[in-house]
Amino acid sequence: MLLEVRDIYSGYGKLTILHGVSIDADEGEIVMLIGANGAGKTTLMKTISGHLRPTAGEVRLAGERIDGLGASGVAMAGVGYVPQEQNVFGEMSVLDNLRIGALDDPDAVEEALTRFPILAERAAQRADTLSGGERQILAISAALVSRPRVLLLDEPTSGLAPLFVDQIVQWITTEASGGTSVIWVVEQNPEPILRVSQRVFLMEGGQLSDEMDAGSLLEPGRLERLLLADQYSPTNTGPSPESPREKEQQ
Ligand code: ATP
Repeated sequence: MLLEVRDIYSGYGKLTILHGVSIDADEGEIVMLIGANGAGKTTLMKTISGHLRPTAGEVRLAGERIDGLGASGVAMAGVGYVPQEQNVFGEMSVLDNLRIGALDDPDAVEEALTRFPILAERAAQRADTLSGGERQILAISAALVSRPRVLLLDEPTSGLAPLFVDQIVQWITTEASGGTSVIWVVEQNPEPILRVSQRVFLMEGGQLSDEMDAGSLLEPGRLERLLLADQYSPTNTGPSPESPREKEQQ
């Protein structure tokens, strides 16, 4: 496995949120991470990306320990991270957001601008003037210009129009077929992402409660029912009872 997360305990100060979580992703694999609000998905992404330091357990990239390297060390090691919120520098230009991600690789910036002409058109604009979908495309581009081996995506398609969702799904599939491992946190509208994923991990109350082949969940609506059941499970310690469907309608 390219990325191995083993028996991770992590949280905020004295508050432990993750209780022994293990997941992995192979080269070129898209792995979906699902679970109710508050299950710990974002906390796991923050821990793998080095924004939170685990109190126990290991994260390995191609066999080498990367937990403990800190956020910039983990990024340098080859893990790209697109957080759920504040994933672009809003007051900076689109171009500068890409340049920061690319470090010394102008070709990578050029490739991103060619792939999404909308980014080229808006290169000089502040990132906070972009639409929601354009901003997610910028955020993912800024993570990919560093040519990571693993890409962590925290709900980049939530609330986006289907056109953007399709574009992002297609694009990430292409990246994965080039060898990038992807861990993709999904809450709303999981089906388009499920279709291109190989495995699905279900989190519940800070633990991994199931691992499934994506193919076994392809029957329409099955995954959403699973998420709904999880949302109302007595072991779910999440703060919000709202269902993904209700959230989507807001
Ligand atoms: P969501 O989609 O709602 O973000 P999630 O599965 O990503 O759900 P997390 O954001 O990881 O869940 O939250 C897990 C738990 O950690 C929740 O109980 C949440 O209240 C708590 N939590 C998150 N951030 C912090 C923080 N900065 N300080 C303290 N507790 C936090």
